[in-house]
Amino acid sequence: MSTPASPLTEVSPAERLMSVQGEIAGHCARYGRNPADVNLLAVSKTKPIEAIDAVAAAGQRHFGENYLQEAVAKVEARPGLTWHFIGAIQSNKSRLIARHFDWVHTVASRKVADRLSAARSKDQPALNVCVQVNISNDPAKAGVAADDAAMLLAHIADLPHLQLRGLMALPAQSDSLDDQRVPFAALRTLGEAARARGLIQRVELSMGMSGDLEAAIAEGATWVRIGTAIFGARAPRTT
Ligand SMILES: *Cc1c(COP(=O)(O)O)cnc(C)c1O
Repeated sequence: MSTPASPLTEVSPAERLMSVQGEIAGHCARYGRNPADVNLLAVSKTKPIEAIDAVAAAGQRHFGENYLQEAVAKVEARPGLTWHFIGAIQSNKSRLIARHFDWVHTVASRKVADRLSAARSKDQPALNVCVQVNISNDPAKAGVAADDAAMLLAHIADLPHLQLRGLMALPAQSDSLDDQRVPFAALRTLGEAARARGLIQRVELSMGMSGDLEAAIAEGATWVRIGTAIFGARAPRTT
């Protein structure tokens, strides 16, 4: 089936977007999910504005970025798109993030939450935030410990310029569907507990990337963050 890649057979980002949408629809059918509940975030980090334009022209509205400097340039160039920050947050960069983005998926401390709320312009709607949880308790991973998540959620719920939306996780990679489902199920359980405590009404679950999309949808993802499957492989970062 597979033929060697050549410029003539190269698949465009718009075609890859359609195939990812088809994959999402297939997983939704398999696991009894409503496709309207699974939002696609196109992760465009390291990719040029032309690639973003091609995917936007095919109907994609939500784009995710990790690296602030390149992200700010893209946000300023395409203010009509909806931009999500999904990278590590240095607290001294909170202001740039708060002013440029519509969503931040990677809030993991009170300090960062406070700074984002303080820096959000009063002319802008509240900044949508998800709390990143270190769901597999991996010392090498970012995120608040699962045991501390409820306290951070309660703190954010009281901040004036943030809108608490849900939880995000970036678990260790695994090739087995069953293994991939374990941390996603744990994040879903944490979200259910937050809803039961009245901290969030509709809990967004930002989980699942190109390699674990099916497991994430099976466990209730409402935002899947897909880069490679839409934009192709990324060159290693040099900065
Ligand atoms: C890069 C990245 C993604 C997308 O990963 P792919 O494997 O390319 O789909 C999703 N989420 C986060 C937090 C990322 O940094």
